[in-house]
Amino acid sequence: MHTPLMPVEEALSKLLALAEAAPIKDTEQVALAAAEGRVLAHELVSSLDLPPWPNSAMDGYALRLADWTGEPLPVSQRVFAGHSPEPLLPGTCARIFTGAPLPVGADCVEMQENAEVLDDQRVRFTEPLRIGQNIRPQGQETRVGEAVLAAGTRLGPIELGLAASLGCAELTVVRRVKVAVLSTGDELVEPGLPLGPGQIYNSNRRLLGSWLQRLGCEVIDAGILADDLEKTRDCLAGLQEVDLILSTGGVSVGEADYLGIALREEGELSLWKLAIKPGKPLTFGHYKGVPVIGLPGNPASTLVTFGLLTRPYLLRRQGVAEVTPLQFPVPAGFDWPKAGSRREYLRGRLEQGSALIYKNQSSGVLRSAAWAEGLVEVREGHTPGKGDIVQFIPLSELLG
Ligand code: AMP
Ligand code: MG
Repeated sequence: MHTPLMPVEEALSKLLALAEAAPIKDTEQVALAAAEGRVLAHELVSSLDLPPWPNSAMDGYALRLADWTGEPLPVSQRVFAGHSPEPLLPGTCARIFTGAPLPVGADCVEMQENAEVLDDQRVRFTEPLRIGQNIRPQGQETRVGEAVLAAGTRLGPIELGLAASLGCAELTVVRRVKVAVLSTGDELVEPGLPLGPGQIYNSNRRLLGSWLQRLGCEVIDAGILADDLEKTRDCLAGLQEVDLILSTGGVSVGEADYLGIALREEGELSLWKLAIKPGKPLTFGHYKGVPVIGLPGNPASTLVTFGLLTRPYLLRRQGVAEVTPLQFPVPAGFDWPKAGSRREYLRGRLEQGSALIYKNQSSGVLRSAAWAEGLVEVREGHTPGKGDIVQFIPLSELLG
């Protein structure tokens, strides 16, 4: 009998619901310098106005507009950034530099390019002036008490710069998700060792290991797991302290599905047949209470199912609200004449605004993704030709 394939959206919403049911609740305080890639645990509320006082947006002259009759004004003080000005003497202007506090009494800054210093050192303004020009008002960016970043925000250079501007030295972040990575397969050998007959090098361990690190996870490297039931049981039993066991390989209908057997014995298992290509089979289960995701072993399948399904799951477990990668429509620069029953994620790149695809889209070919800049989505039953619109998901959206 033919069970219908599970659409990508359904698999994703199931995984996100599972993630929400098992949130990482522990938090920790980290210095800003160590917070890159982490997830903010609480809303960040500003404890100050930003800027804290009105200041000049230009190098120039600060004056009170009412004092300006068109006649040149004498300069009564010089105000540098980081210094505190005197109140402005009536009938004068202040020499002022970008970022310097505005003297009390001034309500206008004219840039130096529109000012002429006369022989007697008075300054003549050559252009019309208006109140408030070139002044950054107090609190124009942020007011005291305003929520600036939401809980669940991932902290990157911009968020960390913003937190620094508010004077935060430390942030409270969600504990890292601990992920055990294991690669199943008798054929696998680690790079650096010689290949025996029938063997290949293990690419998924490194692919997932570095990717998880980028996502702020703590990686427990469980190495290669032989296709053997006893070893699978022992391996899983030794991974009870992690938040997720992430394995690759052995989830196709093949006979060597020891992960599935072990999960059935000691926990629960759902085998999903997904309408996704590459990547059809995916396992979700629990081993003695620890969540387990089993991804297909072919490296391009691992890439697509990790990027589109596991990454959002891991982020959501840390409370990240926004887990959908940015995507945008582009014209296809290729013909795809054969409609599929699964949604295809072709490894492609953009050239002159059109999506091109790598010549070999086999799920075993990781080189396709190294060539690519993104995944080109071809929906079930669709046969786009040159110029038809397809969705493009940049790899950069998935990798970070
Ligand atoms: P499996 O899902 O175990 O049947 O594996 C499917 C295909 O992916 C087979 O050709 C495996 O040799 C290959 N494969 C599985 N795991 C890895 C891995 N860690 N690195 C490279 N290839 C793999
Ligand atoms: Mg295998």
